[in-house]
Amino acid sequence: MIIVIRPHTPPAQIDEVIAEVQKLGYDARPIFGTEQTVIAAIGDERTHVNLESLTAMPQVQQVMPVQKRYKLVSRESHPEDTVVNVDGVPVGGGHFGMMAGPCSVESEEQLLKTAHAVKAAGATILRGGAFKPRTSPYEFQGLGSKGLQLLSLAKKETGLKIITELLSENHVDEVAEHADILQIGARNAQNFQLLIAAAKSGKPILLKRGLSERIDEWLLAAEYIMAHGNSQVFLCERGIRTFETYTRNTLDLTAVAAAKKESHLPVIVDPSQGCGRADLVAMLCRGAVAVGCDGLLIEVHPNPAEALSDGAQQLNFEGFAKLVKDLQPFLAAAQGMA
Ligand code: PEP
Ligand code: MN
Repeated sequence: MIIVIRPHTPPAQIDEVIAEVQKLGYDARPIFGTEQTVIAAIGDERTHVNLESLTAMPQVQQVMPVQKRYKLVSRESHPEDTVVNVDGVPVGGGHFGMMAGPCSVESEEQLLKTAHAVKAAGATILRGGAFKPRTSPYEFQGLGSKGLQLLSLAKKETGLKIITELLSENHVDEVAEHADILQIGARNAQNFQLLIAAAKSGKPILLKRGLSERIDEWLLAAEYIMAHGNSQVFLCERGIRTFETYTRNTLDLTAVAAAKKESHLPVIVDPSQGCGRADLVAMLCRGAVAVGCDGLLIEVHPNPAEALSDGAQQLNFEGFAKLVKDLQPFLAAAQGMA
């Protein structure tokens, strides 16, 4: 931490700050300038008391952290890309993960048809919400346990790996029994108790960015998972709330670039929640691949017009197959850049 002292502070008051810094467990090294003095407080900022409280002293102008607050997720601590092992399917570090399927699991027929179609188009991981976080309590809440069983059935029939959302700490064991990746949704992005419980399952976790979560907060949420012993983490950008209403959310590709730079964890882009419109999804996938994402999470439904959730943003089978085909040159180009 760097503590900036206000100009023209008498030496006795500078000494007061030095004494306080030492009391809080840091080594204090003052640097006396002609106008202003700064104090370098030496110590591990992540484990020591946060010195920001020193701004309460009238002679302190500013306290500036030097270290990043996240450690395990940072590229500094782990320069190589992390490769997540999704029940034998590697994702990250040059292995692209294509995850696709319906927003919600609605029926056996809907899920199995979709599973076969996305597999034929090139997906290796099947998505489908069994427990759905809906804005209104009157909307379809998902099939729950029955949905999980259908996901297992789809895995058995197709060999696709399964990603599904974990909504509650009470469901960890049950969801982990059927899923290869536990999805933490945008609404639970900073539900730290849920993150810890999910981490302890030992399953790979896909952590969505919150609706208005800053990049550092998103990385700190991932740090919770890693700090609780689980390094198999995906960061997932799924659009944020902005002033724009033309699209459901604003897909923030800047955050993808920043996350790739700051962290070794694979970054997945969900363009479906990201824009909320099926007609924009393929274009956003191309952008996401160009920025350097490690995978995509795309909503696909046999008949989007009849979907019980997120109909407007789901692709039909034909649309998804075309998207994957058209994406190939972009994936090849991105591979060449890595
Ligand atoms: C979803 O993937 O269907 C979903 C609900 O995602 P999010 O948490 O990003 O809104
Ligand atoms: Mn959805």
